[in-house]
Formats: sequence, structure tokens, C-alpha cells
Amino acid sequence: MSGAGRNPGRCITHRAGGTLHRAPAMLHQAPGTEHPLMPSPIGHGLAGVSVAWLATPRAGRSLAIACALLAASPDIDVLFGSHRGPTHSLAAVVLVSAAAAMFATARKLPAARVAAACGLAYASHLVLDWLGKDSATPYGIMALWPFSLQHFSSGADLFLEISRRYWNRDEFILGNLRSLILELALLLPIAALAYFRKIRRNSVF
Ligand SMILES: [Zn+2]
Repeated sequence: MSGAGRNPGRCITHRAGGTLHRAPAMLHQAPGTEHPLMPSPIGHGLAGVSVAWLATPRAGRSLAIACALLAASPDIDVLFGSHRGPTHSLAAVVLVSAAAAMFATARKLPAARVAAACGLAYASHLVLDWLGKDSATPYGIMALWPFSLQHFSSGADLFLEISRRYWNRDEFILGNLRSLILELALLLPIAALAYFRKIRRNSVF
């Protein structure tokens, strides 16, 4: 849990993944809202669909929807009071790929391609979070769990934060709208390219 809320008025520095960050302390935080999302579930879902279409151009609607859900799913950890822990690790990517392969085998689908699409869609979440801005300690994602508890962040701040501090109207509405527009500007062109590549082939599953 971040200590930022216990130190109003201070700026806190923290080293994660070799990158030093500075973040303003946050006031009046409700439990579980210290950690912003970045990007939003919409951005993650869009990235997941794009990855599915790029990895498996003949993927049909079912696989695309599954990949969108998988790409957004690591943030389910916010429901349990933590964020960017084990669900944001490469180990989780391996587990998701293995589960997808077993599911595809049982349904007599091409296991390798389904596993690759699902695994890469899940991994896209890690990449986008790693590239995103983060102002709550510990910064970044726990990419190497369970072998290391270190958090990694690129410091690139390519995606802005999606605040869950609903009591701050400007931050919650205007700030999140700005973040959403930026992530759509970055991800929609990629999704469009993936889609146009896909529609040149027939969907089979
Ligand atoms: Zn996340």
C-alpha cells in the first residue's frame, strides 16, 4: 500500500526498474483508489483485439472478444485492494497461454494460434502499463513475480492515468476524458490497421 496518503504536502521519490520517479502526495484517498489505471479498460481491450487480429488474422469474433477481455483482465486485482502485482507478471501470461491452449485443444481449434493470440493479448496489458504514467508507489508492474517482487516502469509516460478518485470532479471527469482521448489516438490507428489486414482474409474461428 502506498504511503503517499499519510504524507500530505510531500513529494515522494521511488526507484522502480532502474528509473527514478517523483510523484506528488495525494490527499483524502479512499481505500483502494490510490492506484490509478493506465490505460483504461477500453484502451486495453482495444489493444487486445488488435493483437488478436495481428497474431491471427483469420480470428473470428469469439476470439477477438476473448482477447479484448483477457487484455483488460489483469486490472481485476484492484477489486482485491492491490494493483500491478502477480496479475501483471510474465508468469500470468504463461498461465493464460497454457489455459487457452488446453481450451482450444478441447474444442478442436488450432491450439498454437489460439494460445498465441490469447497470451499476446494478455501480455499487451503488461506492455501498456509499463509504458504508462504511474503516480502511486510502488511504481510500475511486478513483471517477474514470483521470482522477484520488484516493480518495473519504463518512465515513458506514453499513456496518462485513469483516476479512480471520484470525489475530485476535474480529475475524474476532465482528466480521465483527456487520458481516454490520448490513448484512443494512440491505439485506434493500430486497431484500424489490424482490422483492415484481417478483413482481407476469411474468419474461420
Ligand atoms: Zn494494469
